[in-house]
Amino acid sequence: MKPTQLGLDIDAEACFLHLDGLAGLAGAAGTWLWLDMEGSTYVDSTLDLYGRLRAAHPNVGICLQAYLKRTPKDLRRLLPLEPAVRLVKGAYDEPATIAYRRRPEVDAAYKALALVLAEAARDGRARCALGTHDTGLIERIATFAESADVSRGSLEVHMLYGIRSRELARLQAAGFPAFTLIAYGAFWYPWYMRRLAERPANVLFALRQLFP
Ligand SMILES: Cc1cc2nc3c(=O)[nH]c(=O)nc-3n(C[C@H](O)[C@H](O)[C@H](O)COP(=O)(O)OP(=O)(O)OC[C@H]3O[C@@H](n4cnc5c(N)ncnc54)[C@H](O)[C@@H]3O)c2cc1C
Repeated sequence: MKPTQLGLDIDAEACFLHLDGLAGLAGAAGTWLWLDMEGSTYVDSTLDLYGRLRAAHPNVGICLQAYLKRTPKDLRRLLPLEPAVRLVKGAYDEPATIAYRRRPEVDAAYKALALVLAEAARDGRARCALGTHDTGLIERIATFAESADVSRGSLEVHMLYGIRSRELARLQAAGFPAFTLIAYGAFWYPWYMRRLAERPANVLFALRQLFP
């Protein structure tokens, strides 16, 4: 869920109540509610929402973005809540004052955060989800994590539907719990168009799927 889609800009309390209801329904269905992280102006309010939701529900997770320089601090503040964290690189065009913009810096930040989270998952204090299609990075994290006694079974991999599905299946066979995020409902089309815009090479990829 993107909190702005449930009214965060209009009324934060109403947004919380919507999410609270959804978390309850997700729990009754035996599944989880994950909060997306949007642009940097929403990080504080999304963390606040998560703290309140987590106090009432065991089955809620939150996304953290490795490119934001503030994220190590945010992760440290979340850990006492025994959180479920989906770590991503970050998708918004943020300024260099607050975010790493070069790929090696983002990847290094991602790896450092993943290891903190992985150790918490090893001790049963967190759920660690690697939300990335960067399989090389996932494998480097797994190698480091193994030296800290973190098994692959504690490192979930979450990918977007249709992207690198074969790699996801390969990782699952190698022992990583694997999940796919799909766009659900009538608004799948704008969601899909945004994914294409993020990465124009996807247009060719999608066209190729149409022909045998
Ligand atoms: C489950 C999930 C949830 C997410 N939630 C959020 C969120 O809440 N907030 C947020 O800011 N961002 C979110 N993102 C997006 C994320 O921040 C990145 O922008 C996105 O995942 C691309 O970066 P990457 O980690 O896959 O690595 P990259 O280094 O960009 O890509 C690694 C490799 O994966 C392949 N790849 C990556 N993206 C694509 C693509 N679109 N199509 C085809 N191949 C591709 C390419 O081969 C590339 O070389 C989410 C991503 C995932 C997987």
